[in-house]
Amino acid sequence: MSKQQAVAEVFDSKLTPLGPGFSVQRAFPHARRRTVGPWCFFDYFGPARMDSTSAGVPPHPHIGIQTVTWLIEGESLHRDSLGTEQVIRTGELNVMTAGRGISHSEQPTPDTIMHGVQLWVALPPEAASMEPAFEYHARVPSTAIGHGIATVIAGSFAGQTSPARHHSPIVGVDLLFDSAGATEVPLDVDFEYAVVPLTGSFDWEGEALDKQRWLYLPPGSERVTLRTSAGARLMLVGGAPCDPIIIWWNFVARTSAELEAARADWVARRRFGVVEGWGATRLTAPQLTPNLVAR
Ligand code: MN
Repeated sequence: MSKQQAVAEVFDSKLTPLGPGFSVQRAFPHARRRTVGPWCFFDYFGPARMDSTSAGVPPHPHIGIQTVTWLIEGESLHRDSLGTEQVIRTGELNVMTAGRGISHSEQPTPDTIMHGVQLWVALPPEAASMEPAFEYHARVPSTAIGHGIATVIAGSFAGQTSPARHHSPIVGVDLLFDSAGATEVPLDVDFEYAVVPLTGSFDWEGEALDKQRWLYLPPGSERVTLRTSAGARLMLVGGAPCDPIIIWWNFVARTSAELEAARADWVARRRFGVVEGWGATRLTAPQLTPNLVAR
């Protein structure tokens, strides 16, 4: 649990450039809200057309997390150092477990519209050094709720359970509303949550939120009422509050020594294997930031 008593709060998302002509809307980490449950990274991208010169994201390493990729439109080729080659399309789910170390690349199919989210889940200390793994799910369950449809990509929600494997209490749901109105969303009292608008807007206790602003809910509530516009799409992610972590570049750990070792191993081409199809191309690790502190 966090040291301070958390309260419901609206946070800004930040438009963050990731490369030429490609920016993401980053909900968190936010300066005052680093994690929501074990979710420690929330990027929303697109809709953006990928031109034929777009190379995607070259091989780069991760430790200590799972990446969760969920596309609303478009398709992309995932490759990793386990030898995985998996095209992901709308409605399909990729969950990559970095554990002690993995490297991967993501290549949007040329001329497609890319639109979706990539999220990181911090592994708990007992799973942080596990062997890397990759899961692809062609289908995830969905169910009607209020004015919309809930698609369960992580954990259990409204009687449906995602097939994806996680290592701490967690939930992740795509909520798509086909008509305007108020919907009661059931919550787990032990979880904290983020409600992040992707398209359209919702109203929470008189505040209108769109993709530039998201809602944090602390543990302790059994439900939240969301008044949504027709066509609104929100992500609900949550879980039991996470112990302090350090995020640096693509690494998540509990100590700066772990980050330094991971950086050194990437530079020395140890631990993280090879992603086929890129030749010598890979992302270069930046210089380590001094004074990394877990929080
Ligand atoms: Mn990555």
